[in-house]
Amino acid sequence: MATFPDFLRQKQRFLLTGHENPDGDCLGAQTALYHLLTALGQQVVIVNPDPIGRSFDFLTRHTPFGHARAEDPLPEFDTVVLLDCNQMSRVGQLGQRLLQKRPTVAVVDHHIGGDAGDGMVHYVDVKAAATGALVRRLYRELGVPLGAAAAEGVFLSLVADTGWFRYSNADAEVFAMAGELIASGVDGSRIYDALYRRNHPDSAGVLADALARHQLKLGGRLAMAALDKTLMERATRADFDTDAVLDPLRSIEGVEVVALLKERYDGAVKCSLRARGDVDVQAIVAQFGGGGHKKAAGATMKMPLAAAEAAIEGAVQQALLAQAARLT
Ligand code: 5GP
Ligand code: MN
Repeated sequence: MATFPDFLRQKQRFLLTGHENPDGDCLGAQTALYHLLTALGQQVVIVNPDPIGRSFDFLTRHTPFGHARAEDPLPEFDTVVLLDCNQMSRVGQLGQRLLQKRPTVAVVDHHIGGDAGDGMVHYVDVKAAATGALVRRLYRELGVPLGAAAAEGVFLSLVADTGWFRYSNADAEVFAMAGELIASGVDGSRIYDALYRRNHPDSAGVLADALARHQLKLGGRLAMAALDKTLMERATRADFDTDAVLDPLRSIEGVEVVALLKERYDGAVKCSLRARGDVDVQAIVAQFGGGGHKKAAGATMKMPLAAAEAAIEGAVQQALLAQAARLT
C-alpha cells in the first residue's frame, strides 16, 4: 500500500479543509500543508466552512484562505484533505457539498476516534500534540525544507493546542520543533501579540461578565459557566475568544473539570470541557455525540441551555464516581 507521503505525490488537485470555526491548529496545519503541496508541484486550495478569525489574519500574508458559503461555486479538486478532525460531519454543510464530488478523502489528524474516521487514507497520531506537528513530520518524510510561511503555521499549531506550551501534551517533540522553528526565524512574541493582544475594548467587560456566571458544583470539582444568547451576541460583536473563560476556572484549586456552555443563535449549545487530573472528558462528550482529546473535548448539544447544564453536571458526576470506584 502506498504511504501517505506517496499519496501526496501521486494526487494532483488538492482541497484542504477542516472543522467549523477553524482554530489555530487547524489553520496552522493547513498553512504548512499548503506550502508542502505547492513545493511538490501540486495544485492546492484551502476552503474552510467558516472564514478565519481576525486574530489569525497574519497568516494571509503568505497563504490564501478561502471559505465557501452555500451559494459559492467550489474550485476543481480530486482529493480532499481533512485537517484537525476526522469526520466530514465536522465540516458542516460544506462537508456534504465536497462529498457530492466523490473525491478521495484523506485525514491528517490527532483526535481520538477510529483510526481514519471518514478518510480513505490517513496520517493520524493521537499522541501528537497538534496536527501541525504531523505536517512537520511529513516535510521530513518527503525531504522538503520548511519555508518561512510553513514554519509560522507549524508554530501556530503548536502554541494553539498546547496553550502556549503549558498543557501536558507539550512533549519533547513540541519543544524540539519549537526550538527549531524559532531558530529558523519564527517570531514567537509577534505571533503572541497578533493572537492575544489586539482585543476589542469591550472584551474585558465580556470576560468579567462571563466569569461572573461561573458556578462551582459537585463539591468544587466541576466549574461551569453557561453563556446565554445575549452574552454570546456581545462576545461575537467584540470578537471575543471565549476560550479565555476556561483558564481562570481551570486554575481554581480542587477543580477537576471545567465546562463552558455557549448558547448558539440556533438554540443549540456548544459545550467545551477541559480536565485537570485524570477525568477523561472525551468519554464524557462522546455521550452527546462530541469528541476531542482526553483533557480537552467538545460537543454540540441540541437542547436548551438549562438542560445542557444539567446533562453535563450529571455526566461529570458519573465520571467522577466511576473514577473513584476504579481507585478503590
Ligand atoms: P473546543 O472545546 O476548544 O471547541 O474543542 C476541544 C477539542 O474537542 C478540540 O480538539 C476539538 O476538535 C474537539 N471538539 C470540539 N467540539 C467537537 C464536536 O462537536 N465534535 C467532535 N468530534 N470534537 C469536538
Ligand atoms: Mn488540534
